[in-house]
Amino acid sequence: MDNKYDVIIIGGGPAGMTAAVYAGRSGMKTAMLEKEAPGGKMIKTHLIENYPGVDKIGGVDLSMKMFEHASAYGAQYLYGDVVSITDKGDFKIVETADGTQYETLVVIVATGTNERTLGFKDDDLLLGHGLSYCAVCDGAFFKENDVIVIGGGNSALEEAVYLTQFATKVNLVIRRDVFRGDESAQRQVLANPKINVIRKHIPVDYITENGKIAGMKFENVDTKEPLEISASGVFPYIGAIPATSFFTGTDVIDSEGYMIVNEKLESSIPGVFGTGDVIQKHLRQIVTATSDGAIAAQNAFSYIQDLKSK
Ligand SMILES: Cc1cc2nc3c(=O)[nH]c(=O)nc-3n(C[C@H](O)[C@H](O)[C@H](O)COP(=O)(O)OP(=O)(O)OC[C@H]3O[C@@H](n4cnc5c(N)ncnc54)[C@H](O)[C@@H]3O)c2cc1C
Repeated sequence: MDNKYDVIIIGGGPAGMTAAVYAGRSGMKTAMLEKEAPGGKMIKTHLIENYPGVDKIGGVDLSMKMFEHASAYGAQYLYGDVVSITDKGDFKIVETADGTQYETLVVIVATGTNERTLGFKDDDLLLGHGLSYCAVCDGAFFKENDVIVIGGGNSALEEAVYLTQFATKVNLVIRRDVFRGDESAQRQVLANPKINVIRKHIPVDYITENGKIAGMKFENVDTKEPLEISASGVFPYIGAIPATSFFTGTDVIDSEGYMIVNEKLESSIPGVFGTGDVIQKHLRQIVTATSDGAIAAQNAFSYIQDLKSK
């Protein structure tokens, strides 16, 4: 196989797929390396109601449309978990976990973020045994059961509403006394009789029975009074960690791991761009990810033109 490309995009979420549309359209030999199915976080989102021009669309449907669009312009989809990016000056080597190496003039990093865990000792053990970070993937397993959603941002509010179609009761537990999510999401939560909002509480540990979630222990942030909630499912939505392990120890990322880029989305390594949720930014949404993807691909094109005219 010819493993040489003009542009390799790492990550097939909305940022990566938009970069693929733009890179493919401008005639660059483009590949998108993805370690899961294309779509990124969109495939874990039940309904998207804020993508301009489409009032409501399922996350899987929007993923498929973007993927077909990118493929139509010639972007190749390659399966692989990228573990390293080596700067060789005018070209880069991208290596995946199975040892495959790709040579490319430009790398566009669009790897997004991973869910932040609660930090308890059984986080890994309970995954798939009542603990889930994806209501769309696992919600149906909790039909006629009580569940707990932890977090007060948009993702937590939207997923709490989504879970009410299966669960008997959704306990939405937030640390503050106000939500961080937007007005529309708050309204849907407060209007839903199946959602029980518990304010000013933080999780202390899981309650388990036979290796499965049976509930969660909480503590009041002011009074420190304990609270136990019985439930067979726990869905934490408490933020994210950027997927940039291949940049650990470099100045490409900040202390939290987000890529530092300029307005052209260039990183400190010439020819390496960052787009979407993985970069330092204020609003992490599909529309901002797609915008970044377009900007990065356009600037990648200019970079390659300059490289070729040297
Ligand atoms: C539950 C939930 C609901 C949401 N709802 C909405 C909504 O309604 N509207 C909205 O606008 N936004 C929503 N968002 C936010 C939105 O999904 C993200 O902002 C957006 O998906 C970011 O796009 P991205 O392409 O930067 O990253 P992602 O979508 O995270 O995609 C990154 C991709 O990179 C891949 N990847 C990571 N590391 C590697 C590696 N080493 N090698 C190869 N591939 C790799 C991942 O597998 C993933 O497919 C929601 C988020 C969540 C969690």
